[in-house]
Formats: sequence, C-alpha cells, structure tokens
Amino acid sequence: MRGAATARRKRTAGRPRPDSRLTIPGVYHRLFAANGRQHWWPGDGAFEIMVGAVLTQNTAWTNVEKAIANLKQAKALSPAAIVEAHPRLLAAWLRPSGYFNIKAKRLKAMCRWVMQQGGVRRLAKLALPELRHALLGVHGIGPETADDILLYAFQRPVFVIDAYTRRIFARLGLIAGDEPYEALRNRFEDELGSSAPLFNEYHALIVIHGKDVCKKRPLCGSCCLADACPSAVPQKLAGD
Ligand code: SF4
Repeated sequence: MRGAATARRKRTAGRPRPDSRLTIPGVYHRLFAANGRQHWWPGDGAFEIMVGAVLTQNTAWTNVEKAIANLKQAKALSPAAIVEAHPRLLAAWLRPSGYFNIKAKRLKAMCRWVMQQGGVRRLAKLALPELRHALLGVHGIGPETADDILLYAFQRPVFVIDAYTRRIFARLGLIAGDEPYEALRNRFEDELGSSAPLFNEYHALIVIHGKDVCKKRPLCGSCCLADACPSAVPQKLAGD
C-alpha cells in the first residue's frame, strides 16, 4: 500500500494542478468552438483510411497524401496490388511518407492480413474486441494505429491516444502524460461516453491544436484554453 502511495506521489509531483473549469469533455467544447468541425476522412474508403493510418506513423499528413497519390496513380491502392508489388517498387511509391522500406513491409503485412480475413467488408462485421485484438496482432500495428483504423475506417467508439493528447492534457494538468496507453484510452472513454462521432471529432481537434497552437514551444497567446491552463506562458516567452 505504501508503495502504491509513493508511486502516486511521484506521478503527481511537479505536475501542474488542473483548473477546476477544465475537464476532458470541457476541453472538447472549447476546442470545437475555436476550430469548428474538422471533417476527418469523410469520403475515403475504409481501405484507404487503413493505408493512411500506417503511413502517417512519424510523418505529416501532407507526406502521406503524396504517397497515397502515388499508389493511386500506379493503380496499386488495393490489398492484392500491394501484396503483389515488388518491395522496391512499393517502397518507391511510399518514399514521400518517410521510413519507406519499413512502411512497405508494414503495409504488405496489413494487406496480407486483410486478404486472409476475407477483405475489409468481412472485417467490418467483427465485434470491436475481436477486431482490435486481431489488428494488434498484425506486424507494425501498435495501439495508436489500431485505434486510428478502428475509429476512422470502421467507425468504432475507440479513443485514439497520441503524442499531442499526452502533451496537451499534461500541460493542462489533467493527466501525468506518461501513463500507459490503455490507462489513458480508458480514462478518455470513461469520461466521454461511448461515441464514435465524438471521438472522431475530438481526436482531430487535438491534432490540430497540438500541431498549430500547443506545439513543443506553445503559442499560448493564441490558445482557447489559456485562461484555465496552469502551464500557460506569456506570449513573449512563447512561439516557435
Ligand atoms: S495555454 Fe499554452 S500550454 Fe496551455 S494548452 Fe494552450 S498552448 Fe498549451
């Protein structure tokens, strides 16, 4: 018991104290009011979203778009075409997304798995726990990529935790920031309720806020959360 209390004290030591006006649902309303609807992945098919989720690992979305455009131009945006493509050719198409040799292997592994499972439509019929478990068993798919796919390709109510989520909410004092992935996912899902459309919009808003405002060196003067953020820094000290 004493060990658990010590661990808890260590976890909260030096952590900003959250303002009582801010809650996880409350942050959503502020971000939505400031940024509006983000329309993430509305028109793309489930398979294209799955490909995007693998390619977006460690790179900006604009680079992913170029790689997907290459696949489309080569008429290779299908599980069979990717499985059959020569590894060097596939890597060349994926070059704009960075780490292209690794991503080529991951994409092939995912596509092989999709085909073994009978295609995307068959996958869409699986129950959430079964589908998440199966995705996590595919080479190169970790919890964040799996949850991206579950939420955006299959509209399942799974909250995606990424580096922006950890940074923003740690600065707000609502989390420590170094909790295990599953602990944070459960926390957000418990506080928000089970809603895929809400999780879709919230994750998109977190990404836009982390990318444009709450950056490594935050632009607190432009932040819709600044009045209640315990980590807000004066504008003259902030900025990239
Ligand atoms: S006030 Fe600054 S540190 Fe706090 S959330 Fe906004 S940008 Fe991040």
